[in-house]
Amino acid sequence: MTKKETSDAKTKKAPNLTLPKEDGLWWLGPWSNLVHCKHCHGLTGPRECSVCGANDPVSSYRTEERNGVVLEISQGAVSHTMHSLLLLMKRECERPTQGEIAQVLPNSASEHAMIVILFWTLFEHIFEQLLRTGAGSLPPRVTKDLFNRHQSIGARMNGLYSILFGATMEADLKESGHNKTYDFLRRVQKKRNDFIHGDAEAIDDALVAETLKRLRDVQAAWLAIYNKRCTGNPNAPPVWQNHHAQATSRTSGK
Ligand SMILES: [Zn+2]
Repeated sequence: MTKKETSDAKTKKAPNLTLPKEDGLWWLGPWSNLVHCKHCHGLTGPRECSVCGANDPVSSYRTEERNGVVLEISQGAVSHTMHSLLLLMKRECERPTQGEIAQVLPNSASEHAMIVILFWTLFEHIFEQLLRTGAGSLPPRVTKDLFNRHQSIGARMNGLYSILFGATMEADLKESGHNKTYDFLRRVQKKRNDFIHGDAEAIDDALVAETLKRLRDVQAAWLAIYNKRCTGNPNAPPVWQNHHAQATSRTSGK
């Protein structure tokens, strides 16, 4: 490393990383208090279904004691994986950096590149949950074949979505008012691939900051296309279930 590179690395300004805060389980953002409506399977708040209008959408409650008070808590819709990834992103936002990577590798990834990696893992997870719910009425062997033929996230966004729903993901997002979200997801997908294939700088501070800025929009966009394409069948598998394990178990005869 030259003297100038060392100096640049030390003076590189750390990005301002924050998640927008709200009350309660704020890291969940628009997914806070979500339930599956027992009538239409839509994803909605617990008081009134925003999809079918029913005023009793919650299908089941569990009892929990907190600080000596017994509470009835509705079965939420968010999976453990969704919870875990959002909490990991939150922790990564709060982790201080001291320019360690930049001192060794001046032209490398953002010190908070992990936020983008976690975000893309989250997107792949929620997109698979959406597709598997959409395929819920198909015979298990047909579903298995379709998912085996479309293993990459690109093939699922481009091909499998259209096969299952008769429309492109791009058109559905744009019709739901999320034009910029589709373009952003495509950009992250490309930069994450560039990163994996050797271009470390593809995940830079600007992409990290934009990912945090657009996180809430992506969550809202996923909700919009889920409620557009995956409602109507109250028996469809809920998002909080481990669809992948269930599909593997069903098709392997376990
Ligand atoms: Zn409903």
